[in-house]
Amino acid sequence: MLCLGIESTAHTFGIGIVDEKGNILSNEKDVYKPKVGGIHPKECTEHHLNVANDVLKKSLETAKINLNDIDIISFSQGPGIPGVLRIGAVFSRALALKLKKPLFGVNHCIAHIEIGKLLTHSIDPVTLYVSGGNTQVIAFTEGKYRIFGETQDIGIGNALDKLARELGFEHPGGPKIEEYAKSGNYINFSYVVKGMDLSFSGILTEAKKKIKNHSINDICYSFQETCFAMLTEVTERAVAHTDKNEVLLTGGVAANKRLQEMLSIMCKERGAKFYVVPQEFAGDNGAMIAWTGMLMYKYNPHGMKIYETKINRFWRTDEVDIPWIS
Ligand code: AMP
Ligand code: MG
Repeated sequence: MLCLGIESTAHTFGIGIVDEKGNILSNEKDVYKPKVGGIHPKECTEHHLNVANDVLKKSLETAKINLNDIDIISFSQGPGIPGVLRIGAVFSRALALKLKKPLFGVNHCIAHIEIGKLLTHSIDPVTLYVSGGNTQVIAFTEGKYRIFGETQDIGIGNALDKLARELGFEHPGGPKIEEYAKSGNYINFSYVVKGMDLSFSGILTEAKKKIKNHSINDICYSFQETCFAMLTEVTERAVAHTDKNEVLLTGGVAANKRLQEMLSIMCKERGAKFYVVPQEFAGDNGAMIAWTGMLMYKYNPHGMKIYETKINRFWRTDEVDIPWIS
């Protein structure tokens, strides 16, 4: 049984192919890079439209299969940028109708968790999902992935990218900030945790103002230390509250070694196991959509009706029923 999954929520157009055991046969992608600034929705939509066929071809080649060998089609239905989401939706509908195979719209955030669990063999983690557009602390209780804490404004990745742009670095700026943060002295930043929620946009404004009077190293170091401490605090509280003993880090920002270090210290102190998704599968990718499609298929072999596959730009993690976890 093979599922072909299409990711198309933001910068990445990806197609992955997985089997029912969770073997990943291919995970091809083409990532849109803005010439200036952040993601330009119209340019990004055009990019995905232009690369879709090639990514499909490559994915089938890598998996060493033909299109007719595919049994299930899935795509990222939301949350994401509307025009960009539509490319994946239209492409996958066309494939499903052509091949007469069941079609599944997958929640992008849940796909990040499921691929993480598959690849790290964690079973019931508190997940810290940190990417460009999303920042959520998620755990499974009573049939759903519940959001225990989240950003009230921008995602941490987006905050890093915006600061990076201000410092003159290319997009995406997260890795550059990590490099400069290796040496630096701490300068004071606001620490914005409200209950279990976080806010980064005020700290970002503060950082921009401080650029004039402080070194790049000090800014990058202090920005990371502050924001990552906030993320670690909220994650720790979710662990304490749910009494779970695993933490899973995923999303593009999961690549950051300092964030990994802070979380692993917290986990060690609490006696919890800490897992990080392998980098290839931490950022947006098609394999995670394919694997989640496979999980959905097991509980709904007929797939969704076409009218149920409309994109859902604000689709929340906790709106989705999860029949595959008992
Ligand atoms: P995603 O949206 O999940 O594909 O993740 C993309 C985000 O991850 C961008 O905002 C990047 O700046 C960020 N990112 C990638 N590598 C790193 C890193 N080493 N440290 C911090 N952020 C990173
Ligand atoms: Mg993502």
